[in-house]
Amino acid sequence: MSYFDPLYFVFALPALLLAFYAQLKVKGAYNKYTQVRNLRGLTGLDAAQAILRPEGLSDVTVKGVPGTLSDHYNPQDKSLGLSQGVAQQPSVASLAIVAHEIGHALQDHTAYAPLKLRSAIVPAVQVSPWIAYGLFALGAFLNSSALLGLGILVFSATVVFALVTLPVEFDASRRGLRLLQTYQLVDGRELQGAKAVLDAAALTYVAALAQSVATLLYYVFRFTSIGRRRN
Ligand SMILES: [Zn+2]
Repeated sequence: MSYFDPLYFVFALPALLLAFYAQLKVKGAYNKYTQVRNLRGLTGLDAAQAILRPEGLSDVTVKGVPGTLSDHYNPQDKSLGLSQGVAQQPSVASLAIVAHEIGHALQDHTAYAPLKLRSAIVPAVQVSPWIAYGLFALGAFLNSSALLGLGILVFSATVVFALVTLPVEFDASRRGLRLLQTYQLVDGRELQGAKAVLDAAALTYVAALAQSVATLLYYVFRFTSIGRRRN
């Protein structure tokens, strides 16, 4: 069965445009500040070493990960994965990204509730869009509002995840910028550059939320239009 509804694009287009814009902003900010050398000449790895121990995060291991902008903190094994560019380049972007990821490590260390909630719903979110899509395609095919309703319920996990991601990401950036100041890794201008990089990254999470809300609204619209046809 192949099922595609052009109406979906009407709902999804604004969020898609926002996502596209956010990606451009991230690439632009990263490309710009990856070429701005920080005054102290610190690589991302240097910054990680300067921050982790004094913050009581000696149990966090730093490892290299392939790719660009693939940097992340993994609460499961308490590892800080740094891309080669970030680990080795003494740029303002490197400092911003490392500080943000250590912000996540601090969230983990202090059992920050939104991070715990987000980690808990990760498994559900990996499958929920597909199950929801299956329920919807079947529900539309059979004209069954029960299946569509179930699809909406299953899909809402994705929206909850995108929503919970916002405080997690904004808080990590806030913590990260504070770390850069506390350990005097940046001057005032560099701090503004770091903030520009992290603000651009934050926008991608706002776009992800907009995309999931748009899909949910589309599902709800389909659900109610089937209801109307029935009555
Ligand atoms: Zn993050």
